[in-house]
Amino acid sequence: MKKLVALALTSVLATSAFAFPVKPITLVVPFPPGPTDTVTRQLAEAMRKAMPGATFVVENTSGAGGTIGANRVARADADGHTLLVWHIGMASTANLYRKLPFKALDDFTYLGMINEVPMTLIGSPKLPANTYKEFEAYVRSNGGKLNMAHAGIGAASHLCGLMWQSAMGLKEGMTTIPFTGTGPALNALLGGQVDLMCDQTTNTSGQIEAKSVKAFAVTTSKRLSDNALLKDLPTLQESGLKGFDLTIWHGLYAPKGTPAAVSKQLNTALQAALKDPEFIAKQKALGAVVVTDKRVTNEGHKAFVADQIKKLGPVIDAAGQFAD
Ligand code: ASP
Repeated sequence: MKKLVALALTSVLATSAFAFPVKPITLVVPFPPGPTDTVTRQLAEAMRKAMPGATFVVENTSGAGGTIGANRVARADADGHTLLVWHIGMASTANLYRKLPFKALDDFTYLGMINEVPMTLIGSPKLPANTYKEFEAYVRSNGGKLNMAHAGIGAASHLCGLMWQSAMGLKEGMTTIPFTGTGPALNALLGGQVDLMCDQTTNTSGQIEAKSVKAFAVTTSKRLSDNALLKDLPTLQESGLKGFDLTIWHGLYAPKGTPAAVSKQLNTALQAALKDPEFIAKQKALGAVVVTDKRVTNEGHKAFVADQIKKLGPVIDAAGQFAD
């Protein structure tokens, strides 16, 4: 009898060792409300459907191009209850910062990739240009007077701005104005405090539709032909910036050392979310494409980020003269 009770107890303990989640799961967004926050809130809703009974809370821990929020997750308990939604910054900051308090490939458990998002070059409606060609000519002759907003060193908007100025070979760089995220940066652009910005379609689509900003180009190598709103915007490549191709992406991360059973459960929920037609449609409406290939797996996403870190190295070196 004693043996039976002991056996039962062992099996209860064994089960409870893997009981997950036991409290709300915090999704840390390393920016204030804006594009990454939008993606995260839509993902939280889809993952909640895939994990009945689980609660997801979105926390905005902003600053330093996303590295403050990323560091918060790198140092959190590795129990699967504190996760990070970040983007190409995971790879660009590994090249841009001399000292980071975390290592992109060593300090996280990679859970999987979420989406790919094109970026748009947008400007204040007061700019005296209506096409990309006119815009570029205006920037070339007035560069030194213009203010370009971005979301901190390592943010996607920062990377895009660097690459764009470098590709144009601008003699006189623009003044770059860092914000904590492109949500507040967009408000500054609407308020006339800054002149232009390169930002994700998940943030700019609404303003482009409302015509409250001028949209000049997309950063992808091909036009966004299946997006009714953005399909007529030229690419930077066809506008003469040879080889310009920037698509950003988001992924989901836990601290390193997260138990395999927990990361498996989270990856299963992530993969289910990525197949959720409602999530796919919401992302599509904002110009984002939900990932369906092997990058949705833990290893597949990690291999992709390792490759991105390598590829962005020379790009960032070449553009380095414009770094803040
Ligand atoms: N993703 C950032 C945000 O949500 C912006 C950026 O990376 O440029 O504000």
